[in-house]
Amino acid sequence: MPFDLGGLVTVLQLVGAFFGVYFVAVWIGLVIWTFRDVRARSRQVFTQLLSVLLVIFFNVPGILLYFLLRPRETLAAQYERELAEEALLQDIEEKQACPACQRQVHPDFLFCPNCHTRLKRRCDTCHRITSLRWNICPYCGAPVSAPPPTTSPT
Ligand SMILES: [Zn+2]
Ligand SMILES: [Zn+2]
Repeated sequence: MPFDLGGLVTVLQLVGAFFGVYFVAVWIGLVIWTFRDVRARSRQVFTQLLSVLLVIFFNVPGILLYFLLRPRETLAAQYERELAEEALLQDIEEKQACPACQRQVHPDFLFCPNCHTRLKRRCDTCHRITSLRWNICPYCGAPVSAPPPTTSPT
């Protein structure tokens, strides 16, 4: 049986075509993935365009470079962090009104002058004013002992 050169060439062509298609599919996949990833991390069109072009032109090395340069945080994570920070700030700068009679009170009042409800407490260790809801002193870290009486001693 003579060696079938034509058959071998066809097989090589098929293999070549297969790898060609495979390479293009991976390349397109990487570009799409980069586009989605950068959109989740940056609102700037310039950054998005640059990242996608990087992967289009440099392919796998481009995506490695993108991994190094991309914004560390996703927009969703950034939003959540900002929300948490805002909540913390609100906790500190809470509207200063007596929870019992809604009278305006000064931030460093320990008791409401109107209804005598306890508003804040003094740290036993550093004697600074802290919130009743915290169980450690935010200034010196001393644990807060038993809850104080809810109304003024007088
Ligand atoms: Zn009050
Ligand atoms: Zn303290």
